[in-house]
Amino acid sequence: MIEECRGFDCSKSRDLYEKAKGLIPGGVNSPVRAFGSVGGSPLFIERASGARVWDVDGNDFLDFVGSWGPMLLGHNHPDVLKAITDAAQNGTSFGAPTPGEVSLAELVVAMVPSVDVVRFVNSGTEATMSAVRLARAVTGMPKVVKFRGGYHGHADSFLVEAGSGSATLGVPSSPGVTDCMAADTLVADYNDLDSVGMLFEENIGQVACVIVEPVAGNMGCVPPEPGFLEGLKEICDDRGALLVFDEVITGFRVAPGGAQERLGVLPDLTTLGKVIGGGLPVGAYGGSEELMSKVAPVGAVYQAGTLSGNPLAMAAGAATLSHLKDHSEVYEYLEKLGVMLDTGFGELIRDNGYPLCWNRFGSIGTLFFTEGPVTGWGKAAQVDRGKFSDYFMNMLARGIYLAPSPFEAMFLSTAHTEVDIERTISIAGESLAAVFGA
Ligand code: PLP
Repeated sequence: MIEECRGFDCSKSRDLYEKAKGLIPGGVNSPVRAFGSVGGSPLFIERASGARVWDVDGNDFLDFVGSWGPMLLGHNHPDVLKAITDAAQNGTSFGAPTPGEVSLAELVVAMVPSVDVVRFVNSGTEATMSAVRLARAVTGMPKVVKFRGGYHGHADSFLVEAGSGSATLGVPSSPGVTDCMAADTLVADYNDLDSVGMLFEENIGQVACVIVEPVAGNMGCVPPEPGFLEGLKEICDDRGALLVFDEVITGFRVAPGGAQERLGVLPDLTTLGKVIGGGLPVGAYGGSEELMSKVAPVGAVYQAGTLSGNPLAMAAGAATLSHLKDHSEVYEYLEKLGVMLDTGFGELIRDNGYPLCWNRFGSIGTLFFTEGPVTGWGKAAQVDRGKFSDYFMNMLARGIYLAPSPFEAMFLSTAHTEVDIERTISIAGESLAAVFGA
């Protein structure tokens, strides 16, 4: 047991995993949690506070997963906890409009520049799926352009990669996604406007929208190059397609108004998730009053949800967003921690000649196990997965909990301290030396 977990006891996690595998596919409710790409078995987490998580064996870790993004204020932030417990006193779900929905909607509309009207759903997947349905309905066109290495949740339209033979022919990347569905999804290269232009040329009058993570987070952190988002906006405007910013990761994280505020490019539709729920399940999509008026019950585009606008989730989201709105210094603090990571990883790479690349945007960063620059999926896909696994296990054994995948990001929170970051860099130094045999 000790060996399997590289130096610490994880017997309770391992026993739970064995049991879970007989009850839940792969023992997990979201695939990447299974530690498949790093080997070994996952840790079962019992509790968390601030920037720390504890597993069922009593080991504690400095957490850079942050529930894959939502925990921008750290775990169990007192404002958020109080909002949830207060809301729970009044009942947990009514299936009717509640004051909490109006409060959260007011915050979203005030903070996100391009959103005048917003609809709440339960996940980022629901948000992107619904935004694309709306884009298709508004434009009357069937096709969607996404980017290779971009992730927008697990709706059928998004589980598609380009076929190697033709950039315009989408093929399903999961069994169960029909060829018809895949054929309506076109795949371009991130930070490559020509690849987008080509798809529009080859599909004249057929593209409903371009959906993009304005700062890519799911191929690891890849910021947009200057002019890329502006170029997308121009192409969409010229061709009568909608531009959808998937801000499920970046929303409220990189600025109060997300990447669109920080980078000054406004999309037609925005999808939100993660931070908006403060750790409870919330997603949202929004845009201008004109576009959103097409959504039922005002318009004909159907979209609904039994638990949408759940009062506990709305309360957690509103407490989180209120805190962010009232404490703009949060973003300066996160940037300061980010710069410390830039310096620390930069020195480790430079001083040791490691074939690595550190990318960061705001409180999102990735150490790619390939030489840079990493500007899109083509380069990101070249990472040395074996070396990453080794690094991951070395970090874990030394108390640093990273996402168990080479294509994910480290998420900073306001609960991380400068001492935490110094310690992380020092442990990364030891871990990289172990990986590269320095
Ligand atoms: N969009 C982006 C950019 C994401 O990173 C994710 C999830 O990681 C989603 C959409 C899907 O969100 P959810 O997992 O809440 O369905």
